[in-house]
Amino acid sequence: MEKKFFDNAFDKAKNAFEIAYKKTGEIVSLEKLRFNLSSLKTNRNKLYAALGKEYYFRFKNSESLPDNEKNIFDRISELNEKIEEITNEINYAKSKRICPKCGAAIDERSIFCNYCGERITFDFDDEE
Ligand SMILES: [Zn+2]
Repeated sequence: MEKKFFDNAFDKAKNAFEIAYKKTGEIVSLEKLRFNLSSLKTNRNKLYAALGKEYYFRFKNSESLPDNEKNIFDRISELNEKIEEITNEINYAKSKRICPKCGAAIDERSIFCNYCGERITFDFDDEE
């Protein structure tokens, strides 16, 4: 019985923790504290990332990086190459249209298809 009493008291304390008091005496819900904590962490992580970016561009050509950092630098460089590659592909695709007859990618300003000679008409309606 004694044990159970303490368990209940412990549960009550845990529930009481759901409501926290600021030094000002204002009541703040645990939910709000968690939200505040999470936005603080988000902002801090953005700053970590910003610092990392500064660091990357300052030292990416450095010969004397510790192994664990070198590994991260290499992975970032690898991702940057892929990002550039896909960005170029997107820009290329955006400057092209598809020939309705043969399906070739042709310059968006072409009047005739370079491959099959189909005359390209411009449709001004928003049909997909
Ligand atoms: Zn064509």
